[in-house]
Amino acid sequence: TSNKKKRILEKAEANGVKFVRLQFVDILGIIKNVAIPIEQLSNALDGEIMFDGSSIEGFSRIQESDMYLRPDPKTFAIFPWKSGEGSIARLMCDIYTPAGNPYIGCPRTALKKVEEEAEEMGFSMCAGPEPEFFLFKKDENGNPTTNTNDKGGYFDLSPVDLGEEARRDIVLALQKMGFEVEASHHEVASGQHEIDFKYEPALHTADNIATFKFVTKTIAMQHDLHATFMPKPIYGINGSGMHIHQSLFRNGENAFYDPEDQLGLSDIAYYYIGGLLKYAPEYTAITNPTINSYKRLVAGYEAPVYISWSATNRSALARVPSSRGVSTRVELRSPDPSANPYLAMAVTLKAGIQGIKDKIDPGSQTLKNIYKMTSEERDELGIKSLPENIMDAVNSLRGSQLMKETLGNHIFDRFIRAKEMEWSEYNIQVHDWELNRYLLNY
Ligand code: ADP
Ligand code: MG
Ligand code: MG
Ligand code: MG
Ligand code: MG
Repeated sequence: TSNKKKRILEKAEANGVKFVRLQFVDILGIIKNVAIPIEQLSNALDGEIMFDGSSIEGFSRIQESDMYLRPDPKTFAIFPWKSGEGSIARLMCDIYTPAGNPYIGCPRTALKKVEEEAEEMGFSMCAGPEPEFFLFKKDENGNPTTNTNDKGGYFDLSPVDLGEEARRDIVLALQKMGFEVEASHHEVASGQHEIDFKYEPALHTADNIATFKFVTKTIAMQHDLHATFMPKPIYGINGSGMHIHQSLFRNGENAFYDPEDQLGLSDIAYYYIGGLLKYAPEYTAITNPTINSYKRLVAGYEAPVYISWSATNRSALARVPSSRGVSTRVELRSPDPSANPYLAMAVTLKAGIQGIKDKIDPGSQTLKNIYKMTSEERDELGIKSLPENIMDAVNSLRGSQLMKETLGNHIFDRFIRAKEMEWSEYNIQVHDWELNRYLLNY
């Protein structure tokens, strides 16, 4: 490690780094920073930077508020934008207790634990995300609107699409930070974009997602736009999802691939899918954690509603894309970008490996478009629905021993409590929809 440390210190110096942001995410997936001047970097790398854990929602009780940040040296990266005061770098951190133990409330640590369990079984998980987001205009006061930027007015002669320009700069910034961007494109909805980056081991991908959101918001701001990962900002228009492609590797080979099988899938792959389907109601509160998430998971907008798998159609919750060999993978289509990426990886990986342990049969794939089936047809095939709102999802989570084990008591309890509060706050509001519907009629 002292070699690694030396390399980082040298790199920081060579690039004129003046500040380092020590980053971590809270339980709700919000990225947090403790900024330190470069002179503190050496101490930081030794895990000696303390912060007040009680200032972080859900992180700690008052009596144990001193927490330590332990940076992962592999995550050292320099932000490609300048502050005027020299460059800024960042390190992703794990949270440690004053006694020097990994903190149970740290989402990154929760994911590491599941990764270790998979490793004991001989597997490492690879994950590739497809996050979608909207770029919205700001009003004259600088507040975000839900007006998209790229609907060039009828008489607008400028060929430039500000959204496209911002997205190009986001991609360039990500590449400078070491991302391998595989695709970036405009989405179905106006103002909506997607940037796909290459799959990596789960922890690395979770770090990438956290970084990606931060970079996207920053670059959008520089273009005077607001980037949002809110799952369904506009009624009647496709929401933003974050499909997560997943596979397991064993001894350097894709363990989901079996050329002998009719579909080219191994038993491991089938059981993994079995686990993803069986535990879907239990982990959905984590992969789709906001009230707004469930406005996306409705029929008609390419988002999954039913718990099924398929190698042929995109209406399924778990789809197996057609590539085989090293690219054999399952695409989980329910997650959205409001999810805490660490927890989302942790719960889905856990569901998958539990499927392998218990040899869970995923049943036969659904070949027909589920949305076109009647509810009787779905019942006959035993196709269940995802939770319809956050509270249903939280109730399934609450009853899940597997999820409790995955998240640990602290995160499990805090997450549930935060969601209960969100729900009761939401429930007492009087929404525009109600006024439109009832004000005149009653
Ligand atoms: P879609 O057809 O849904 O748009 P893509 O073909 O764009 O899907 O899939 C993109 C994601 O799948 C990328 O993040 C890519 O790196 C990832 N991917 C490719 N191979 C694997 C694999 N073996 N394991 C996990 N993810 C993978
Ligand atoms: Mg896509
Ligand atoms: Mg898409
Ligand atoms: Mg794609
Ligand atoms: Mg996809």
